[in-house]
Amino acid sequence: MRTHRDLREFPYNGLVSFGLDNEDYRGVMRWVDWYGDGSLYVLDVGLACCTLEFDAAAPTAAGRLPSLDERARVAIVISGTVTDRLAPAVAAVIDGCEQQTGRRPVVISFGACASSGGPYWDSYAVTKGVDQLVAVDAYVPGCPPPPEALAAVLDQLMGRVAS
Ligand code: SF4
Repeated sequence: MRTHRDLREFPYNGLVSFGLDNEDYRGVMRWVDWYGDGSLYVLDVGLACCTLEFDAAAPTAAGRLPSLDERARVAIVISGTVTDRLAPAVAAVIDGCEQQTGRRPVVISFGACASSGGPYWDSYAVTKGVDQLVAVDAYVPGCPPPPEALAAVLDQLMGRVAS
């Protein structure tokens, strides 16, 4: 059985074209200023069809990550099927974000594939949940997951739920 360490150490040199190993977080990664006020920046790690649901949920277009206000939060959404081949690159995105922004991102597993392997759970090549790699703060179920559920989870994590 593969371990957390095995997955993180899987070679991923061939994935340069995905841009996931690019360390220029401000210039290359596309961030969504979720509330339009600089309080929460969200990065989608789009790996399969769930990324279309992310696009449907996002209230604004993505852009560069500016210098962050000290109160600003960052969140990374893993949307789509994580394969063992891709898993270390996904972990590198999250680790790199923490190093470069100086704050641990909120990590959201968006959809059945990211959370458990989804319809491909019995594939030898598919990771059975991104939580085998990184700590996950929230899971959004569904195949596909509803876009409004992602917005609701972010509102909850940010304390923006109306009482
Ligand atoms: S959970 Fe369903 S919709 Fe999302 S990436 Fe997997 S197969 Fe596609």
